[in-house]
Amino acid sequence: MSFTFFTDRLGGLSQGDFSSLNLALHVDDDSSVVIRNREIISNQYGPTMYMNQVHGNAVEVVSALGNATPTCDALITTVPGITLAVLTADCIPLLLSSKNVVAAVHVGRRGLINGVARKTVEKMRELGSGAITGKLGPSICGTCYEVDQKTFDEVISVFPSARSETAQGTRALDLASALVADLNDLSIECEVDSRCTNEDLDLFSYRRTQRTGRQAGLIRL
Ligand SMILES: [Zn+2]
Repeated sequence: MSFTFFTDRLGGLSQGDFSSLNLALHVDDDSSVVIRNREIISNQYGPTMYMNQVHGNAVEVVSALGNATPTCDALITTVPGITLAVLTADCIPLLLSSKNVVAAVHVGRRGLINGVARKTVEKMRELGSGAITGKLGPSICGTCYEVDQKTFDEVISVFPSARSETAQGTRALDLASALVADLNDLSIECEVDSRCTNEDLDLFSYRRTQRTGRQAGLIRL
């Protein structure tokens, strides 16, 4: 079966806003330090493939470790020993496991709407995955993720189970509930890490501090 892990802020070398295990190269952290942080990950979890995430629904099947970082929001592999990474700081890091195919998927509000998780599942099944299970890593919770009316309506019209509200009773979205419902619909059972990135200071949160790092969801066969 597959190996999965979710990193947090702890145990890295970055300073200040990026303290300390920031794994993202695009967030204005010192890239030489980020590369050392990534070495900490690869030393512990093996050679790791990252992606340039763009809130799209491109799915990339990885068959070998290369120097290029694909631009996509989902990585799939059937090759044992290649660790796949999805970077987040409020969005949902979704890890999909099966006995011979695994995937790391970046699911934010736009990813939920554009069906990146569904598209990834389809591709895994094409590759002969058999039964798939899902793990949702820490993300911003339904009480913290306040949105405007227009955004709320747009998401709720497609995903009624995302309906939520803040402690003050204003409109909010519970993306994790919506994603679980969507995956259950595809006969995929999910485990959810209930930690909220906005509330847990050991996690990076873009909502809490715009200048911040990214943690990773990691999976490999
Ligand atoms: Zn929260």
